[in-house]
Amino acid sequence: MKCEVMKNNNNSIFCETYNCRNRAKWFIGNPQGPRNTWINLCDECLQSVYGSMPDSVKPAKVYKCDYCGEEFLKPIEKATHMRTCKKKG
Ligand SMILES: [Zn+2]
Ligand SMILES: [Zn+2]
Repeated sequence: MKCEVMKNNNNSIFCETYNCRNRAKWFIGNPQGPRNTWINLCDECLQSVYGSMPDSVKPAKVYKCDYCGEEFLKPIEKATHMRTCKKKG
């Protein structure tokens, strides 16, 4: 991964969001890259980043078969599969 969320164990770093004074618990950036290119975020700000993500980049929601665990992208596909699932009963 080129960019990921990493846990910050240093308690003296502050969140970089404008007007936020919480301590940063997270870094976002390239783990292989230099430390000063990472963004420092607190719990709250990381959550609001996640909450404001456009649907186009959010991980797709999957529907799992209750019997075999096979994954489907649409509830209708799951329902159709479950009617004939080999692991059923
Ligand atoms: Zn913050
Ligand atoms: Zn199944």
